[in-house]
Formats: sequence, structure tokens, C-alpha cells
Amino acid sequence: MTATIINGKAIAEKVRSQVREAVTRMKETHDYVPGLATVLVGEDPASATYVRNKRKTCEELGIRSIGHELPADSSQEQVEKLVAELNADPTVNGILVQLPLPKHLNEEAVLNTISLHKDVDGFHPVNIGRLAMKGRDPLFIPCTPYGCIVLLEESGIPIKGAEAVVVGRSNIVGLPVAMLLQKGDATVTICHSRTRDLAEHIRRADIVIAAIGRTEMITGDMIKPGAAIIDVGINQKPDPTAKRGYRLVGDVEFESASQVAGAITPVPGGVGPMTIAMLMKNTLHAAEIALAA
Ligand code: NAP
Repeated sequence: MTATIINGKAIAEKVRSQVREAVTRMKETHDYVPGLATVLVGEDPASATYVRNKRKTCEELGIRSIGHELPADSSQEQVEKLVAELNADPTVNGILVQLPLPKHLNEEAVLNTISLHKDVDGFHPVNIGRLAMKGRDPLFIPCTPYGCIVLLEESGIPIKGAEAVVVGRSNIVGLPVAMLLQKGDATVTICHSRTRDLAEHIRRADIVIAAIGRTEMITGDMIKPGAAIIDVGINQKPDPTAKRGYRLVGDVEFESASQVAGAITPVPGGVGPMTIAMLMKNTLHAAEIALAA
């Protein structure tokens, strides 16, 4: 079997164009433009690139982007004060504090300061709590997990009743994606670094979500024929033929897995493009909430 490649770039473009159209309609109907504030503390180059890409996508979709950059030695009070000002600013619908924050800052306390109605990253404990509870819905779904679910839906892969295995239990990917699959009526197993016989669990799965951060750890022999594989991992693999001396690969060994799976996301070009697209969708949703208030 050769797997269908799930084209994250194309699916992300579809989401972005839906957001672009809705933003245009909102401007025409309500004379209102959604606004996303980004907060970057310090000069980590990867974080700076992520923030730049988010701001650029905002501009492409007609969303107002408000950038704040604070020095790496900012105090807890300075960061929380900025978030409080953005909470009070009616032109700001979403607040995105780029993680990780410098080590001396209390990340949890900063995230707790973000107004629930502006938590477009979906990391506020109340949002995560609602995601976990039966009969409750969060205001915002964390972007990368949301993207994983949209990739499955857009590819026509049934979640209801499926056996799903999530490898990884981080607050930003593994845990929320497991809760979303469970909300979608999948039977979910969460695996992590202490799981005994990981391959045994993965071999049962109709859907595998890999969010580990370990280069090509999941191989074709661990996969049930026909399974859908969503590879969240982004790892640098040494490659002397590449310009930078490495290439990006996932947590799944694409070559062997794509011989067995029914559908699989590539790295890059799978989950990656979805994260920003879902952030834009969440920002639009935040503006809709503000308009309805
Ligand atoms: P993380 O916080 O480091 O979590 C990794 C998870 O994998 C942990 O739950 C850990 O278990 C588990 N794990 C580690 N080694 C394992 C092993 N040998 N067997 C089974 N489980 C193991 O990472 P993350 O932030 O969730 O990110 C995961 C990957 O996704 C990274 O490559 C990251 O770059 C990528 N990512 C991509 C996007 C995107 O937009 N595409 C967004 C976010 C993250 P314990 O809990 O027991 O430690």
C-alpha cells in the first residue's frame, strides 16, 4: 500500500481563504476589523521567525496585527502589565504571547493573565478545562491540535469510533489533541516516555498522532495497514547534501510509514502550515465574540 499524502499546505490555504472572506464581510457589514496582538520577549531567533510569520499572515488576511517586543530581561510585572493593557484595549481581539518565555519568567502566571475572551492560543486553564469536560466547549481550541483535527476531517478520515493513539502528552499538543479526539467520539490512548511497549499500542490505532519531538521514532512496522498518521514532530536531521547541513523530518519515518499507512502528513507541509491558519480562525472568532457582546 502507498499512503495518500495529506496536503497541509492546501488545507491551510482553504482555512485562510475562508477567514479572509469572513474578515472582508465583517468589515463591510460591521465596519470592524479583527486585531491580533503578539508579544515577543527576548531575541530567540526561532520565536522571532514564528511571530514574523504570524504577523505576515494577519496582513494577508486583512487582520490588524499589533506587535510588542520586550527585552529579554523584562520583569514578570512588565510582561503582565502589557498583557493587562492589551486585555483592556477594545481594538485587540486576540493576544498571543510567544512561548517559550525567558527562563526567569513564570509562563503559567503570564498565560493566566490573558483574558479568556482573548486567549486565541487556547492555553488558558479554563479553556483547557472546558475542553476536557463533557458537555462544555472551550472558547478557543489550541491551534496545533485544532489543525490536526481539521486535517483528519478534510481528508474524510472518520474520528467517531476510531481507535486513536496519541504519542506525547504536552499541554500544547498531545494532551489537547487527545481531548479533542475523545470529544469526537474516538477511543483514545495517550502514550508518553514511560509507556511500556509503545509499538503494541500504535499497532492497534486507526489514527496515530505523533507529537514527541524524536526524529523518525515511529517506523512502518509499528503501523496498522491503512491507518491515518498525523505527524506533528519537527526535527532537524543531519544531511550533508542540504544547504544548512540538515533537513526537517517528523517523528514518523515517512518512507517506511507511507508504505503501510492509508494516509499520512509530510514534514514539512503537513501540520506545520495548519497552526497559523487555525490561529487566524481563532482571532476571527474572538472578533465575533467581541461584536456579539
Ligand atoms: P514536548 O513538550 O517535549 O513533549 C513531548 C512528549 O513526547 C512528552 O509527552 C514525552 O513524554 C513524549 N515522549 C518523549 N520521548 C518519548 C518516547 N521515547 N516515547 C514515547 N513518548 C515520548 O513536545 P511538544 O511541544 O508537544 O512538541 C512535540 C513535537 O511537535 C516537537 O517536535 C515540536 O517541534 C513539534 N511541534 C510542532 C508544531 C507545529 O506547528 N507543527 C507545534 C508544536 C510542536 P513525557 O510526558 O513522559 O515526558
